[in-house]
Amino acid sequence: NENRIIGREAVAAKRRHYFYPCTQHFYRDSPQLVRGSMQYVYDENDKEYTDFFAGVSVVACGHCNPAITARTIHQLQQLQHTTTVYLTQPNVDLAERLAEVLPGDLRRTFFVGSGSEANEGALLLARLHTGRKGFIALESGLHGRTNLTMSVTGLPMWRTDKYLDEDVTFIRRPYDLDLTPEQAAERSLDDLKRVLEEKGGGIAAMIAEPIQGNGGIIMPEPSYFRSAKALLKQYGALLIADEIQTGFGRTGTMFAMEQYGVVPDIITMAKALGNGVPIAAFAAGDEVARSLNTPSASTFGGNPVSAATALAVLDYIQSERLTERARRLGARLKEGLEDLSRRYPERIADVRGTGLMLGMELRGGNASDAAALTDLVLEEMKDRGYLIGKNGVGRNVLAFQPPLVIMEADIDGMLEALDGTLAHSSAGAAPPGM
Ligand code: PMP
Repeated sequence: NENRIIGREAVAAKRRHYFYPCTQHFYRDSPQLVRGSMQYVYDENDKEYTDFFAGVSVVACGHCNPAITARTIHQLQQLQHTTTVYLTQPNVDLAERLAEVLPGDLRRTFFVGSGSEANEGALLLARLHTGRKGFIALESGLHGRTNLTMSVTGLPMWRTDKYLDEDVTFIRRPYDLDLTPEQAAERSLDDLKRVLEEKGGGIAAMIAEPIQGNGGIIMPEPSYFRSAKALLKQYGALLIADEIQTGFGRTGTMFAMEQYGVVPDIITMAKALGNGVPIAAFAAGDEVARSLNTPSASTFGGNPVSAATALAVLDYIQSERLTERARRLGARLKEGLEDLSRRYPERIADVRGTGLMLGMELRGGNASDAAALTDLVLEEMKDRGYLIGKNGVGRNVLAFQPPLVIMEADIDGMLEALDGTLAHSSAGAAPPGM
């Protein structure tokens, strides 16, 4: 029987044997997930977990949401794949729908298969458009695992430092625990100004996440990107917004850049657009899009199944008003996390983010204590039935990025469990974390 479920130990052993040794876990004792339903996932013993990570912001509309999978299945049975040589309707309908929700004059969409590919395309487009090669990126940003996207990735744990493209300058991120948001933004903009003054004529674009995900839920003060965009424009360089984690409602607006009143030159998207089915894209206005002037296509980009799924996702986000829901439930979750941070000041350094993209930075006696405490909390929360994310440069930030269909009761239950966990956790006996 092909669907026979083997035990967790057997799965872990196969993974150790056949995967590359670098493959990572959050947990000492990782659950094996076998099915999901909206905000819940289940292991092979049918233990229920409330999912507060959504596969890193992916299943925004919930696991196996029947309103979406019905349309995926229908398309799978209708026409599964073809190439852009032929006309198909789902991808043009999707491009049209995206143009309606994208800011400003961004109406041209190029479909690809993954976030890395979308950023790779956006970076190439910026080079072609400006005729320049250099990029500016933020420390602790993450943009992908192809050569060029890894080159603009600032987070040390997601870079293989050798062999990368060297025409990238990193500037400090607009956030520092020891500075006010305004001071941190100013410091980062000073860096940007200096780099542009020194190398402006060679800079094609700056790439940035509106709110850094893996970097530790890093959200700049609201005027930061407006100032950055103005500076870049002054030097003829583009702004690429990597909305791969932030896009499609999670932060309380369709795209997070809207909250800053900024229309980037290029927006990249992936993850939530397919709710678990692979699809990604980079969008630009007419003038920039024209610069991609060689015949270009991606085998799986805009395939009918992914495009039909993404159309169902956009319908669902709009009909269920998930953007508004993210704002409302995010406020409730953030309030709860802030309350915990007042009650456990010795363990919690910071609570940040917006909508349903929130982070809680933990502290210990030193950095490794903080990371160890984070692992302990994650492990115990998992045992209590809650899957939470982990990120940050020091691997000491708990990330709360649940499906946007999460309920009030799920949030309250999770906060209660987190309270119970923090009440007795100390980093003393923690395993080394990844
Ligand atoms: N950009 C951001 C902000 C991401 O979070 C990720 C993935 N974590 C990527 C790019 C890369 O996307 P993918 O894994 O689909 O290539």
